[in-house]
This record gives sequence, C-alpha cells and structure tokens, in this order.
Amino acid sequence: MLGSKKKYIVNGNSGIKAQIQFADQKQEFNKRPTKIGRRSLSRSISQSSTDSYSSAASYTDSSDDETSPRDKQQKNSKGSSDFCVKNIKQAEFGRREIEIAEQEMPALMALRKRAQGEKPLAGAKIVGCTHITAQTAVLMETLGALGAQCRWAACNIYSTLNEVAAALAESGFPVFSWKGESEDDFWWCIDRCVNVEGWQPNMILDDGGDLTHWIYKKYPNMFKKIKGIVEESVTGVHRLYQLSKAGKLCVPAMNVNDSVTKQKFDNLYCCRESILDGLKRTTDMMFGGKQVVVCGYGEVGKGCCAALKAMGSIVYVTEIDPICALQACMDGFRLVKLNEVIRQVDIVITCTGNKNVVTREHLDRMKNSCIVCNMGHSNTEIDVASLRTPELTWERVRSQVDHVIWPDGKRIVLLAEGRLLNLSCSTVPTFVLSITATTQALALIELYNAPEGRYKQDVYLLPKKMDEYVASLHLPTFDAHLTELTDEQAKYLGLNKNGPFKPNYYRCLGLPRNQGHLGSDELPALELVFASPTTYAYMNSEK
Ligand code: NAD
Repeated sequence: MLGSKKKYIVNGNSGIKAQIQFADQKQEFNKRPTKIGRRSLSRSISQSSTDSYSSAASYTDSSDDETSPRDKQQKNSKGSSDFCVKNIKQAEFGRREIEIAEQEMPALMALRKRAQGEKPLAGAKIVGCTHITAQTAVLMETLGALGAQCRWAACNIYSTLNEVAAALAESGFPVFSWKGESEDDFWWCIDRCVNVEGWQPNMILDDGGDLTHWIYKKYPNMFKKIKGIVEESVTGVHRLYQLSKAGKLCVPAMNVNDSVTKQKFDNLYCCRESILDGLKRTTDMMFGGKQVVVCGYGEVGKGCCAALKAMGSIVYVTEIDPICALQACMDGFRLVKLNEVIRQVDIVITCTGNKNVVTREHLDRMKNSCIVCNMGHSNTEIDVASLRTPELTWERVRSQVDHVIWPDGKRIVLLAEGRLLNLSCSTVPTFVLSITATTQALALIELYNAPEGRYKQDVYLLPKKMDEYVASLHLPTFDAHLTELTDEQAKYLGLNKNGPFKPNYYRCLGLPRNQGHLGSDELPALELVFASPTTYAYMNSEK
C-alpha cells in the first residue's frame, strides 16, 4: 500500500539502523540531520529499491565535508541556485563521467539526433526520482534535448554520484540530491522538485514509487495536469497496480519494469556481466576449478551460471520449479539440493527473490573460507541475522567483506552483508542501463503524445513495437544486420513486415502482473487453475 513502511533498512558497523518510511504526516522538514546520523548513513549501503541497478562508485567520500548541502549557498556558473547538490565545484569530474557513459548509450544518443527537428517532448515538464548516476544524467540530458524541462531527485539515499549531480546542476538542471541523505533530506529533495512557484509537472518518471506517493499525499491536485507516470521498479509497479485495483489511479501509467527489454536484458545480461566483477573486487579469487552453487535458475541465476561456467568453475544449481530445473540440466548444470553440496562448495550465490534460502544450518556446515553472497533483490535470501550471535566473531576485512568466525576457527566470507552483490560491490554495464533508459524515454514520449483517452487510468505495458524499436536502436553498435521478412513470409506468418514480430503473450513475458505474473497474495488455489477436475485429480494422484 502506498502508506506502508518503506524499504531502506541499513545496518552499518555501528549497528545503527536507518529506515525510510513514507512520511504521510510530515511536511515540515528538519533543518538538518544530526552529525552522528549523517556519519552512520554515509558508512553504509542501502538495500534500496534495487529493481534498477547502478554503480555506486564515487570519487569523493561524502564525509569529507560535514556541512549539509541544505545549509550551503551554491550557484552555478550562470548564477542559478535552483538546485541542491553536495558541491557544485565537482561539476567537471561529473561531466567526464557523463561523457564516458554517453559512449555506451547509443540509443539515447540516436534519439537526440532524431529529435533535431521535431521535439517530441516540447512542453513536457518531467519530474523524476531515480538513481542519480552518469547513466541517468545521459537520460535526463536526452529528455532535455527532446524538448522537456526536468526537475530531479534521487530515489535512493546512497546511490547519487555527487560529481554527476554537480555536472547536471552546472548545466542548468534543477537537481536535488547527494550521497548520504537523511530520511528528512530525502523527502525535502522530492518536495523541492514538485513544490515550485510557477512550475507544475505534467509527467512523472519514478523508480520505487516515492515521488508518485508524495504527489498523491501532498499535492493531489497536480494530477489534473499530469498526463502520465512511467515507473521502473517492481515495488513501484506493484503500488500502481494496487492503486489501479482500488480505483484510485488518476492518470495512465507505464510499467517499464515488466517490459521485455528490461526483464530480458537487465536481469540476465547485467548479472552475467557483473557477478564476476563483484566477486573479484571483494575477494580477488580465481574462478577456474572452484565449486559454486547457484540457488535459483531464473534470469539472474542463468546469467550467473553462464559467467561462472565460462570461467571454468564447477557449477551446481538448486531450483524449486521443475521447468527452470530442467533448463539447468539441459544447460549442463548438476541440479542438487543445497544440503547435498553445502560442505564441499567454495561459493554460494542466491538469486531466487525468496527468503531464508541459506539458513544458519547451511552456514554452520559450510567449509572454511566459503564465500557467501546474494544477487537477488533483497537481503532476505541469506539468514544473516542468525549469524549475529555471541559465539560468532565478525571481522570486517574490507569494505563490504566480513569474515564470520566460528569458535573452532572456521570462517566464512560474507559479502555485502547479504545484500545485492553487484549493486553493492561492482559496476553494472552501462549498455544494459541504456536499454532501460531508452525504454523510459519512449514511454514518456508515448504517454505525453498519446491522444486524449487513448490510455485510461490504468497500468500499461509498453507496446511490443516499442520494445522492438528500443532493441533495434542498440543493434548498430554490434554492426548487426537484421533480416527483413519477404512479403510472402510476412503473409505466411500473418505479420506486418515492420513488426510487431511477436504477440504480447510470447514466452509469457510482456503480460502485466494482473494477467500473467500474479503476486503471491493473488494466486488462485491450485484446484482453480485447472478447468477440469480430472486433470487436477490426476496430477495429484502421483504424490
Ligand atoms: P526469476 O523469478 O526469473 O528467478 C528466480 C528463480 O528462483 C525461479 O526460477 C524460482 O523458481 C527460484 N526459486 C525460488 N525459491 C527458490 C528456492 N528456495 N530455492 C531454489 N530456487 C528458488 O527472477 P529473476 O529475474 O532471476 O530475479 C531473481 C532476483 O534477482 C529477484 O529478486 C530480482 O529482483 C533480482 N534482480 C537482481 C538483479 C541484479 O542486478 N542483481 C537484476 C534483476 C533482478
């Protein structure tokens, strides 16, 4: 529900917990957080709304200057002070980061080129709340080039690259964000984006649903002018569906999270590319010949397994779903129960999206120096809490690396305290983020330009054709040559020669949650899944 508790739970070395909640009642902002509060925040990494992933690396440590950005008077070189970033003087570093990201974001650059004449977002006033990274900066500047005015805040209190935020502010974007914000800062920044004299947003780009929630709670009248919401995260999309189900969604929304281009690329390829990076940076380990067990053989699991196999690791897989299990077998992996291999493996990786997949019992049985990490959304997959007991000693050996030591001297290597390994400890490929960012840009263009009434007050997936367009914009990078259907072939397949080439239900992707991908609370009882009671009885008779 929109009013429920928010997700950022952080447990730093000090054991201090920072938790962001929806500030339903709050609109008065504290002047600034306490020093202790700020320090504890800057030391830890948030679990965050990690449906979208970004590199959290930064040149500067936010603790090098204790003054809250809210207390600083800053101006960019054109004299504007309509922004709040850590240090505007870092703009030049940030600009270099943005230029590097541009090299790997060909589709956004292509959109800019195409928009030199017509400006499909002319008149759009977009308020955004996403991770503020070099990749987002390329998206924002593209939206600007397409004619939009943008105001932006961060969707995560830790993931802002201060240099990049400074570069955006320097080039005239009202950005309100810095690394290590407090909860109060977080909502203050969002408020500064929407509560502006003489400016009202007409489009929302959200990642996690906080911005949408804020406008719903504090400025519901703004929805009279808002043409649509584009949402990227699982969490945000879930909330939109709930609003829609309750009849409270007052504008059309695009669910970018479930678009094929996100699911197929973010989950699979992003993890295939970043799992080794995360493991290598934290442990310097060699992968060849190591025994690894990967829990879950969905998109993320498939990516992790492929990367490790290619490096010569011996990979085992655990699964609960016979279909994914069969895929693992046919891809050449040994399907096992975790108990069968837990004593012998060198690395355990979870990517199920589930909870307590690795229990204290498993952790007790692991061999000395076993590395344990998680690639799933939240830190529930490994029972890390069970390791915080007096008989075990924790030794922080590196940033994001803990040795947990048993009384007999056995130690396991726990990475990122069981949070998402690649978000916490590595970079993720810009090219993959480019695909998601292009999808977001197109979703904004579509909603902004759609004729009145074309989209109702509901949650939509991107039209398939647009997914195909996003993919095609990325093909030239590979000098790839797409085959064109002949007239005869198009007729035979019943397709338009220009696409869409697959129906929306193709491989079950592309179906909205409430049709194809039910949340667990909405699952019907198994006997209701089958039209025929005979089928149901037959399938159960074997057990
Ligand atoms: P998915 O649903 O395709 O795959 C998860 C798999 O885990 C399923 O096949 C499921 O049957 C299996 N599973 C569930 N419980 C299990 C258990 N107890 N033991 C063994 N297998 C079990 O989902 P996905 O796209 O692979 O995403 C997995 C998780 O990773 C999600 O939490 C997702 O949000 C997250 N994610 C991470 C990244 C990243 O960059 N690290 C990127 C995208 C998604």
